[in-house]
Amino acid sequence: MSSAAAKGATRYDRVMNLALERGFYFPSGGPYADAQAGFWEYGPNGVGLKARFVELWRRSLVRRARMMEIDGAQVMPPSVFEASGHLAGFTDPVIQCTRCSATYRADKLLGGGEAVHEGSTPAEIDAAVAARGVACPGCGGALGPSRRFNMMFGLGVGPGAEPAYLRPETCQSIFVDFPRIYKTMRGRLPLGIAQVGKSFRNEIAPRQSLLRLREFYQAEIEVFCNPNRLDDAGHARRSGEKFEVMDGDEKVLPHVFEMSMGIDRSLYTVLEHALREDAENDRTVLSLRPHMAPVQVGVLSLVKKDGLAERAEEIYRSLREEHSAFLDHSGAIGRRYRRLDEAGAPLAVTVDHQTLEDGTVTLRRRDTMAQERVRAEDLAGAIRAEVAFPRA
Ligand SMILES: [Zn+2]
Repeated sequence: MSSAAAKGATRYDRVMNLALERGFYFPSGGPYADAQAGFWEYGPNGVGLKARFVELWRRSLVRRARMMEIDGAQVMPPSVFEASGHLAGFTDPVIQCTRCSATYRADKLLGGGEAVHEGSTPAEIDAAVAARGVACPGCGGALGPSRRFNMMFGLGVGPGAEPAYLRPETCQSIFVDFPRIYKTMRGRLPLGIAQVGKSFRNEIAPRQSLLRLREFYQAEIEVFCNPNRLDDAGHARRSGEKFEVMDGDEKVLPHVFEMSMGIDRSLYTVLEHALREDAENDRTVLSLRPHMAPVQVGVLSLVKKDGLAERAEEIYRSLREEHSAFLDHSGAIGRRYRRLDEAGAPLAVTVDHQTLEDGTVTLRRRDTMAQERVRAEDLAGAIRAEVAFPRA
């Protein structure tokens, strides 16, 4: 992506271009015409960025606050969602055009306001449609009656197609598993239980790539507290008796507060925040903090001949187990640096003829483009220092 091509594009478009061209993420389903909206795939750089983001979450929340992490099933039985209220209440109001069959979220179509909101009943919405004379924005046709649409994906399990659902949030298994974890892991209140994983919502209008997905990653934390020792956090939920636990000599039904985060949209904002156009040097730079970079170091040979490619491969092999390294021999050296800049690699190592003479390589920094000579045997330490997670 050249700076010239990026001119006039919105920030969203520039992030999207970078995501597609540098293997961060792309639409699922490839060339197939029936691929549905709201499903995206992470390429190698996206997987690397996500892994580092999750590691940062584990470091700064889960491990730091001595929480416990679980990994629950994505398919769960109806009883779980009866208890959580999702079967009855995880719905959005929808309305369909009688002429072109386009379906809309009724509250969005009516533009909100006091009379209509996410929780409005079909009768309230139909009355508002009639009063305001709203028609289909696509074709001008008449709108049919509105209804509540449950956003959980239903499944049939086994040959008998027993009903089940893909979880719409990760927290359900935390609640269901809490008594077991508390007992078997010898928990004490307050106890934080964390989970990162996929959730699924049958969104009516998925949009803007990672910002509203139908299949997405969540990182959720539930902190279970003794209500008698807690100023009410406001978000406490009540559940049944089977969730009571012993806190010392006291039998309590813990109160809970929740910290929930969408990972995909967080990754989008990280990319948007880091992406910059360096017009002076005619380059696009993804200035990720080094500990977030999916590629930590590029290893390049100045030219392929004279044994430089072989020496570069040797260095690459010595680094790749500890670091995410990328070996690149092909094309002009300037273009190879640009590609690494766009992938967010904070460091690049170049093997040149001097390397064969004195054992040093060029170490180039992404943001400043500054270059220095470093002995090849000191590289691992230099990279380690650069990409280390900051201490909290
Ligand atoms: Zn229509």
